[in-house]
Amino acid sequence: MSITNDQTKMLIQMIKEFTANELAPIDMQIDRAGDYPDGLFQKVVNTGLLGITLPREYGGAAFDYQAAAESLEKMATGNASMAVTLEGHFKTIEQFIKYGNKSLNDEYLPSAAKRIFAFSMTEPSGGSNPKGIATRAIKQGDNWVITGDKIMITNGGLAEVYCVLAKTEDDQMAVFVVDKDMPGFKFGKREDFIGLKGVPVGEVVLNHVVVPDNHLLGRIGQGLEIGDNAHADARVLMGAVLAGIMEHELQTAVNYSKERKAMDTPLYQLQVTQEKIADIAIAKENTTALYQKGADNKVANKPYAEVAAMAKSYGSRSAVASGDKALQILGGYGYSHEYPVEHLIRDARAMELAEGTIEKMNLEITNAEIAK
Ligand SMILES: Cc1cc2nc3c(=O)[nH]c(=O)nc-3n(C[C@H](O)[C@H](O)[C@H](O)COP(=O)(O)OP(=O)(O)OC[C@H]3O[C@@H](n4cnc5c(N)ncnc54)[C@H](O)[C@@H]3O)c2cc1C
Repeated sequence: MSITNDQTKMLIQMIKEFTANELAPIDMQIDRAGDYPDGLFQKVVNTGLLGITLPREYGGAAFDYQAAAESLEKMATGNASMAVTLEGHFKTIEQFIKYGNKSLNDEYLPSAAKRIFAFSMTEPSGGSNPKGIATRAIKQGDNWVITGDKIMITNGGLAEVYCVLAKTEDDQMAVFVVDKDMPGFKFGKREDFIGLKGVPVGEVVLNHVVVPDNHLLGRIGQGLEIGDNAHADARVLMGAVLAGIMEHELQTAVNYSKERKAMDTPLYQLQVTQEKIADIAIAKENTTALYQKGADNKVANKPYAEVAAMAKSYGSRSAVASGDKALQILGGYGYSHEYPVEHLIRDARAMELAEGTIEKMNLEITNAEIAK
């Protein structure tokens, strides 16, 4: 039974209410504390948000990627951190659905509405060149023994299941599924990042972790393809998060420009303010169009990697620039912790790096254009 338009509308309404009641009121608190408050993540789980995209056979709500992306856009208008926490989970679930063998999916996906899954590629040697990773998976009988160090992993420490990119003995790339409770698995340092302060982004250390053969996601040699696919899926969702951040910036600037006067004239009546507000509104609409095209193409089984890279490349630079414009409209208050604009700039800035840097995405967009 497929999802109806009314069910999608109810989902979006539920997300808006959850955001208004549970996230927006503590947005600044999360930024200042550098973490989610106790109990918040459990509320996300109890509300069923982890299972939005999960197929029904595994206990999920089976919404499509358009609905998932729109949900994250609405959530990010109130708090971008929680939207990115869900982005990291949703994009990982997509890789199980596309590449997972039946016994792996039967083992793991029934728990995916209750516990977070994460995707781990980056290592201390660098994230832009995944071929340079040092993590090794060595075959021993029917098992694989995995050793390596993954850093800057979204939801690292919060997530319980990790897809891990590794090299086999013959230097082929492959992705394995590792559980946090397996012997040899340990959490390392949490990054002290400047934005998205609620999201734990941290290190995962694997010391001879033994996984059975069915924990191989896809095939040996398919690791980079799965990594690229995870990036494309993530970038659609990050485009949505960035559109949400820009909506937050826009509303903050609009509200302030109505209240604040310059020589008896509300700021919004000044042309210099109008230029900034119009620029933010246009950038938000453009980013929305890009991420929605990415989601539409994915659902229609059409190529979507290039437009997904555009959504994140354009969206992240626009959200940072829009935040700067909103900050200027607010004057000195914009530069203060009293208003959210400064942390929205820091939040958006992460997405010029995460899931592939701007330079990497622009390279991919250029390669796609050259190949046309
Ligand atoms: C908030 C956040 C969340 C993240 N979550 C995850 C996650 O869940 N999983 C995960 O695996 N990783 C994650 N990362 C890591 C992220 O993917 C890497 O930061 C990113 O891939 C860049 O790698 P690096 O930081 O090692 O920079 P480097 O690869 O060292 O690059 C440094 C600079 O050099 C540029 N550069 C590198 N190579 C080239 C080239 N060939 N041509 C031109 N320029 C180049 C880069 O664009 C960058 O500007 C996250 C990062 C952040 C900030």
